[in-house]
Order: sequence, then C-alpha cells, then structure tokens
Amino acid sequence: TDIQELLLSRIRDVADHPEPGVVFKDITPLLADPAAFTALTDAFAEIATRTGATKVVGLEARGFILGAPVALRAGLGFIPVRKAGKLPGATLSQAYDLEYGSAEIEVHAEDLAAGDRVLIVDDVLATGGTAEASIQLIQRAGARVVGVAVLMELGFLHGRPRLEAALDGAPLESL
Ligand code: IMP
Repeated sequence: TDIQELLLSRIRDVADHPEPGVVFKDITPLLADPAAFTALTDAFAEIATRTGATKVVGLEARGFILGAPVALRAGLGFIPVRKAGKLPGATLSQAYDLEYGSAEIEVHAEDLAAGDRVLIVDDVLATGGTAEASIQLIQRAGARVVGVAVLMELGFLHGRPRLEAALDGAPLESL
C-alpha cells in the first residue's frame, strides 16, 4: 500500500551495526518525518481499537517513542516495559535468553491488573525473544495480551512462529 511504501522509504539500513555482519534497521528518518510518524501512529491506533486494547505497552527504548502517541491517539494508558533496574517501584521481572547470555525486563506491578487487555508495541521483531518475554511478563501480572504491533519483522530470524505460539490466537501485526 501507499502507507507501507512511505514507511519503508523512511527506514534506513545501516551495515555492520552494532557489530560486523548485522544490518541494522534505523527508524530515526521515520521519526523525523511527521507524515510518516503520523501514518504509523494511526495504523497502530487502529490495531489498538480493533483488538479492544485497554492499555498500550511499549518496549524499551524505541517502543516508548512509537507506543506513547498510539496510546494517546487511542485514548488508552501507556505502560513502559523496561530493562531491569530502571523502574523505581515494585516490579515483576522476566528473564530471557539471548544468543550470548541473558537479559531481564520489568514492569511496574501496579500498572497492570486482571481484566486489562494489552497491545504490545515495538519497532522491530527480530528473534521474538523480547516480545515473548514481555507476553509472559504481562500474563504474570494478570493481564491479557490482545496483540503485538511492530513496524517490521525480520522474517529470516523466525520471530513470528515463536510469538504466535505465545499469543494463543491473538494477532501479530507487522506493517
Ligand atoms: P528480538 O528480541 O531478537 O526480537 O529483538 C527485538 C528487539 O531488538 C526490539 O526491541 C528491537 O528494538 C531491537 N532490534 C533488533 N534488531 C533491530 C534492528 O535492526 N533495528 C532496530 N531495533 C532492532
């Protein structure tokens, strides 16, 4: 579609970042273009409305930039899922495996409750490890994940089948 072409034209491929052999998808040109940023926000907000979301969760750090305007546009609260050690209040945490080592993410326990319907927002789905851990975290908080919305997925890393298994029928939408 025209919107997909606009969004794609505002994503920059950066070779050998953050390490040799990796092609990094850089969304800063999209953020700098209000027409593209608005189109993205509107598309994500439509997903939030369609899935009946009551909260938008953004994943550190680009999920904060993309998710906050989606939450406002859809009239919903925004909740950050952060890397361990950043949130000041009582948290739930979830560890997950990386290619080398492991990582841990956290959410404020009081931000989610039973009955909440959560749309997770991030920029790039790669292996799906971060989003999968976020689903587990949100479910442990008693809430339900009604969808994951990303700007793009790197198909060759097979994040989609992994996430679909965790999503239990809820949609994974990549623009
Ligand atoms: P995953 O856990 O392997 O799916 O990695 C996804 C996380 O890494 C997301 O939070 C992304 O923001 C980040 N990420 C991975 N690859 C890229 C990229 O090429 N561009 C921007 N972010 C990326």
